[in-house]
Amino acid sequence: RLSKRLETVASFIPKGATLADIGSDHAYLPCYAYLHGYITKAVAGEVADGPLRSAKLQVERTGLQDVISVRKGDGLEVIQPGEVDCITIAGMGGTLIANILEAGKDKLSGVKRLILQPNVGAHIVRKWLIDHQWELMAECILEEEGKIYEVLVAEKGDGKRPYRNMEAELLLGPFLLKEKNDVFLKKWNNELAHWKRIVRQLDEKAETESAISKKQELEKKIKLVEEALR
Ligand code: SAM
Repeated sequence: RLSKRLETVASFIPKGATLADIGSDHAYLPCYAYLHGYITKAVAGEVADGPLRSAKLQVERTGLQDVISVRKGDGLEVIQPGEVDCITIAGMGGTLIANILEAGKDKLSGVKRLILQPNVGAHIVRKWLIDHQWELMAECILEEEGKIYEVLVAEKGDGKRPYRNMEAELLLGPFLLKEKNDVFLKKWNNELAHWKRIVRQLDEKAETESAISKKQELEKKIKLVEEALR
């Protein structure tokens, strides 16, 4: 069985898509997507040898060599322009996801949908999408085995939509903030508690310039999130 995290990513793949799963590791996601009729074919991209081997093994084991092409390469380097219309990038930090998209911009022309699952730093992904006119269509937040994950879905369009309060929504996610479900509240209440702990620790330290500016920065974030959650 696929993890709830990857199942959620897969649920946003449009029926009949041609998919590139970048950083595919064991290639569970493209195999699952094919076997459940979401996609007609896929590229599984991997930069590292170990995960590349397990991707190849999984594809062979499932008998999907003809429809899932496992390729070694950095980011979007593994696809040709126009080859796929949907890209998934899951299980990495937001900075890495944004860097992969930035480095592979010229491969995105025929791509209709991006499904991105940053483990941390979702705001960095949202910022990249805004700056490159990808419109956020949906967001999901879920908890699995004590970890909280966000899934972002974007299509080419107006990067500014659906944002209203840019600063807060960039950090928290416009759809997630609107929905304010239990997982979302848990995540941000945990973050708030964590930031407040650091502020208290900084208070006990010498009043160095860097401690003061760190504290001010955290207090600003605390205020932003508390006001947004209210
Ligand atoms: N996508 C799978 C998932 O969500 O379960 C695997 C996530 S795994 C933690 C991250 C994978 O991304 C690793 O296998 C790593 O080798 C791969 N990776 C990291 N940077 C990459 C890059 N620039 N291009 C392709 N793959 C990359």
